[in-house]
Amino acid sequence: MCSGIHAIPSGPGEFPEAVYSFVVCDKMNVMIDAGVANSVMDASFLDKLDYVVVTHLHIDHVGALSEIVQRYKSKVIVYQGYSKYLRDPTKINRDAKLVLGEVAEIYGEVAPTEANFLEVKGGEEIDLGERKMKIIYTPGHARHHISVFIDGILYSGDSAGGRYNGVPIPTTPPPLDLKSYLESLRLQMSLYPRAVGLAHGGLVSPSHLQEHLNQILSRNYKVNVDLGGIAEQILSKHLEVNYKGLEEAYSSLDSSSNP
Ligand SMILES: [Zn+2]
Repeated sequence: MCSGIHAIPSGPGEFPEAVYSFVVCDKMNVMIDAGVANSVMDASFLDKLDYVVVTHLHIDHVGALSEIVQRYKSKVIVYQGYSKYLRDPTKINRDAKLVLGEVAEIYGEVAPTEANFLEVKGGEEIDLGERKMKIIYTPGHARHHISVFIDGILYSGDSAGGRYNGVPIPTTPPPLDLKSYLESLRLQMSLYPRAVGLAHGGLVSPSHLQEHLNQILSRNYKVNVDLGGIAEQILSKHLEVNYKGLEEAYSSLDSSSNP
């Protein structure tokens, strides 16, 4: 039987740590995010899975969702009004191809998910047994982004950056709502988590949040992660997109403050 907290690489074979799913086992078991379709995710230790939380509907977070839900009959928690895009993922797949190009092919297409959906708006508290799961609305990376807080650990999806080789990285694709992104980041810092589960980076120290905030505010956000090989190529594609989001957000900010 499953117990405790698990960070599960759920990227493709070329770069398993490209994305993480997290599993918290209690009386009710919950998974946060569902990796890519061509996922190496090993969830075989789970005899049951009551909930899957989708932090947001990008291809690298919902790829294996339909397969997981078919197997475990899990209830899927998603921001209000967005379950329809999981039932018919045409838009998710189309947007991914436009934004990520070849990387979207490496990740694989998202299949339609038929599930019992629980749509949320933030502020809900769900009883897991010993622990409670609090849903936090964290827009910015996407308008429909949610994070979850369980037993002092924050699972921030893509709303608080990523981290590889000890280097914080931006997770800020266009169209970036920078104001909301920063507000969401500060809101999450105000929870004083004892650890942070990053969808792109795994479980990290909470000091990551301040480092990430500094990198965005200082505009010194270009990083050198140096993973090597295909992993480096995949990460570089994401970084290129995330830099673009920040550049656009800052240039519109600058032009509005200098008429
Ligand atoms: Zn992502």
